[in-house]
Amino acid sequence: MTHAPNLYAAEPIPESARAEIDRLLTTGDLFRYTAPEDAPVALLEKEFAAFMGTKFALAVSSCSAALFLALKSLNLPRNAKVLIPAFTFAAVPSAVVHADCVPVLVEVGENYRIDITDFENKLTSDISAVLISHMRGHTSDMDAIIALCRDRNIPVVEDAAHSLGTLWHDQKIGTLGKVGCFSFQSYKMINAGEGGILVTDDADLVAQAVIMSGAYEHNWKKHPVLHEAFGKWQNKLPLYNLRMQNLSAAVIRPQIPEVARRVSDGRANHDWVAGELNSSPFLHVPAALAPETRAPDSIQFNLNDFSETETMAFVAETQNRGVSVQVFGTTKNNARAFWNWEFIGPQPDLPQTRAMLMNACDVRLPPRLQHDDLRYIATAIKDAAQAVKGTAQAA
Ligand SMILES: *Cc1c(COP(=O)(O)O)cnc(C)c1O
Repeated sequence: MTHAPNLYAAEPIPESARAEIDRLLTTGDLFRYTAPEDAPVALLEKEFAAFMGTKFALAVSSCSAALFLALKSLNLPRNAKVLIPAFTFAAVPSAVVHADCVPVLVEVGENYRIDITDFENKLTSDISAVLISHMRGHTSDMDAIIALCRDRNIPVVEDAAHSLGTLWHDQKIGTLGKVGCFSFQSYKMINAGEGGILVTDDADLVAQAVIMSGAYEHNWKKHPVLHEAFGKWQNKLPLYNLRMQNLSAAVIRPQIPEVARRVSDGRANHDWVAGELNSSPFLHVPAALAPETRAPDSIQFNLNDFSETETMAFVAETQNRGVSVQVFGTTKNNARAFWNWEFIGPQPDLPQTRAMLMNACDVRLPPRLQHDDLRYIATAIKDAAQAVKGTAQAA
């Protein structure tokens, strides 16, 4: 391969989606609550809950909407403090703010995972909930996190937007906490352009989320949740109208059977590239934690002892080779750098997370890539590091 692969091109949607999309276009039946039963969105919820092994699933317009509804359904008081990792996407502190809560940021280590000492120190009696964002699919020590939260009776919400198919001790990520949220945005394991879903075993929580998602009047009867839970919340909650429409579900449903293949291909691709990058003296891919079986569609790696000038030179060298590497903290206005979240107000500095963000590189690695693509990417990255550090050493 002499050309750099396009890391943003999507995999085709399975052919089997076409018949259902055609049917929906013909009938115009796009609203999830028009059909008396078995609307595509309702079927998606049933299939996704079965896939995850949870009692309930609620499909919505995005993972951000799912996170917002999950927090709202915890019935937290206004201005409740919610602990989140300082390494995440801006949508996560945004969901906290949207739910009238206040995010408290926890340090993240050079392996992209939550610093458990800082987590424990910040898990004080004024924390009302914990929102664990498994950023880029990296799983923090969930044994420690769940145990600490259980001791203090603090609910855990999982942002599993990038963790579909990831396991922790053979248990699916997204089912460890009280509620798990996933994304169907195009850069995730299932691509519907936009979309999200939350999963939980808690009938009272899902009843609230269903109503607030926009199941006005008695539309909740089209959800398989205990009717007492709905009766309790009817007319008591605002309607935020974050529903999913049927066309999205028609695009998502045929991709569920593809997840296992995408996960195993993504992991094999990631691990091969990781091995290559780790063979360079200038690069380091942190290992997964022992209980974690990853489902990556991107790779993150650290630069060994690069100055900021060398880091910028490295990024330019990778660009020259046609591979787009972003260093989270150095690109302007990066939505994953906590100091750009000005909307949450001034924050105490987080030196550990800041150091990681100034050094950690991010490259998309969609599961559809072939071996030649992977070789091209790994070679470009290693050569770019060599070009920067090799010159520096010779000088
Ligand atoms: C993509 C992503 C989100 C946001 O998902 P949307 O569906 O676009 O709202 C949140 N958290 C993480 C970790 C993500 O990767």
